[in-house]
Amino acid sequence: MSTESTCTFNSTDCKGVIRQITNNIKIPITNKEIILVGMKLCQTHFNKFITNEVHNLKLNETCSHPKHDEYKSQSKNTNKKSKNLNLEKVPKRLISILNLDETAKICSLCRKRTDKDPDYNKLEEYNAPISKKENDDNILNIGNHTYSFRKDVLYSEEELKQFESDYQEIITQLTISNEISLSNKIKKMSSILYKNQRVLKQKTIYDPDEFEIMLEEADADLIGFFDELYKGTNPNTKSEKTNNNNKKKLVSLCYFLASINNKYINGIKADIGLYLETSGASASSIDTLANIGLSVSRRTVN
Ligand SMILES: [Zn+2]
Ligand SMILES: [Zn+2]
Repeated sequence: MSTESTCTFNSTDCKGVIRQITNNIKIPITNKEIILVGMKLCQTHFNKFITNEVHNLKLNETCSHPKHDEYKSQSKNTNKKSKNLNLEKVPKRLISILNLDETAKICSLCRKRTDKDPDYNKLEEYNAPISKKENDDNILNIGNHTYSFRKDVLYSEEELKQFESDYQEIITQLTISNEISLSNKIKKMSSILYKNQRVLKQKTIYDPDEFEIMLEEADADLIGFFDELYKGTNPNTKSEKTNNNNKKKLVSLCYFLASINNKYINGIKADIGLYLETSGASASSIDTLANIGLSVSRRTVN
């Protein structure tokens, strides 16, 4: 181990404590070629290359919207001095139509204008923002949660309540690799369950094995789907009794997901698998679901 404590730049400007650059220090992108992990920097050089640069980058952050200048010039509020752009991460639904990457930031003016701009809102890939007031949805309160279900809810309220509580329980146990893209499979599964009940007038299948076979026979793409979910509950760390219970809850999860209003599901770029993985806490899971575009909202009922 080297004990020398001189600044890598070793100049007459050097002053203050010497700090070693570790992996934990975020080197500003503009200085990545100059500052390397393992270097030792005095306070002066640390400020120059790290602290001040991070600050400058923040100040110079601009709106990435391709029409920012155009919108800005049309805006009544032409306070050009205002540096405060109110930048926010570009909404997922706008990434592809604006040709931005997901780390890009746009200002609130541009976000609002985009939804009114026929150059964008007439595009096939365009997804409208989800209005917070949806009157045409089937809103149901279960416990502390408010859900928006498909207009044609498939199950009785009793069944839904059971599905919901099973769903809340199983979701806390699920860990799913985000390599598995579940959103498409959930869509396919939903239409199968819909057809079974509405068109073929079949009864709800509560038996996990029967349920799995039914899905796999209905659509070859769903072979292994239920198993993926089951593996996500880490069955080898649990007792047989728990595993059997979890399997039943997974059936509920499937029926529950199929019943949630999914008219926005086509616009979902986010992977539901990722959602399932990250929504360990049941309270936040509904908000997460809402954030990725399903029309679901949660509010606390006193
Ligand atoms: Zn120095
Ligand atoms: Zn802008």
